[in-house]
Amino acid sequence: MSNTLPPPLPDRPPGRRGPRGAVLLALCALVPLVLFGWLGWRVWGGDDGPGTAQRDPDARPSGSPSAQEKELDGRTVVLDPGHHPGNRDHAREINRQVDMGEGKKECDTTGTETEDGYAEAEFTLALAQRVERLLVSKGAEVVLVHSGGEKRGDVEWGPCVDERARIGNEARADAAVSLHADGAPADARGFHVILPGKVRTRGADTRAIVAPSARLGRELASGFRAATGARPAEYIGDGSGLDTRKDLGGLNLSRVPKVFLECGNMRNARDAAQLSSPAWQKRAAAGVADGLTAYLTHGNAAGDRR
Ligand SMILES: [Zn+2]
Repeated sequence: MSNTLPPPLPDRPPGRRGPRGAVLLALCALVPLVLFGWLGWRVWGGDDGPGTAQRDPDARPSGSPSAQEKELDGRTVVLDPGHHPGNRDHAREINRQVDMGEGKKECDTTGTETEDGYAEAEFTLALAQRVERLLVSKGAEVVLVHSGGEKRGDVEWGPCVDERARIGNEARADAAVSLHADGAPADARGFHVILPGKVRTRGADTRAIVAPSARLGRELASGFRAATGARPAEYIGDGSGLDTRKDLGGLNLSRVPKVFLECGNMRNARDAAQLSSPAWQKRAAAGVADGLTAYLTHGNAAGDRR
């Protein structure tokens, strides 16, 4: 019917407010509470408040995974990928003689390669980048001596071995590792770690790093062997996987614990197949990171430099 009045609004029981009234009331009660809480937070411990001087800006609420301290927090590691893919195009520069503290030696070398032409410099760079990622994930600060010229501003060859040592010294590294693969006779297999011998000359003094470097080398050999299953070199170090040398500028000029890791023999077909394999490189990187972690967390490392 056309003359029917609109239906009456549903009756509200006396004394009860509508939904809008209830929201308004709740807001009136909440505003002072929130305001008071905010003021308290500002004054007694919130950001920029007087109680915040000791707070760690990176602290996260406990319970989240990032709140846990990482095992290499505060540690600095220098990774030195042996040689440089660009060295082959800069023969004149890398043959330049540089001061090794006592006598001179060429700035750098091209390194070896596998029978298939996989360059040692490509291998050391790939491995260093893998190790870098692992160490960073454990909280370490990692300095890569070079990135193969891939990054803007990066060197296109070298750097010279004296510069490589200097980078570790200036970073005040807790540990430095120079990564290599050997060019030994084709019938020999295995990895080895080169430790600095005691050298004291006009410009080199390794006395303070010999002992900590030996510990670093042992941990590295152990971690590397466990992760890769590789055997210590048959052709050097009497099967111990450790060799001490006094003729390497990169070690003699180091003021921080430093070793070389020769991951295998590129001239041996079976070692070369492993060194060229990304899956094997992944295991090798884990072994290097494990060895470094063991060295840096087993007590002595912190006192080595101090
Ligand atoms: Zn090398």
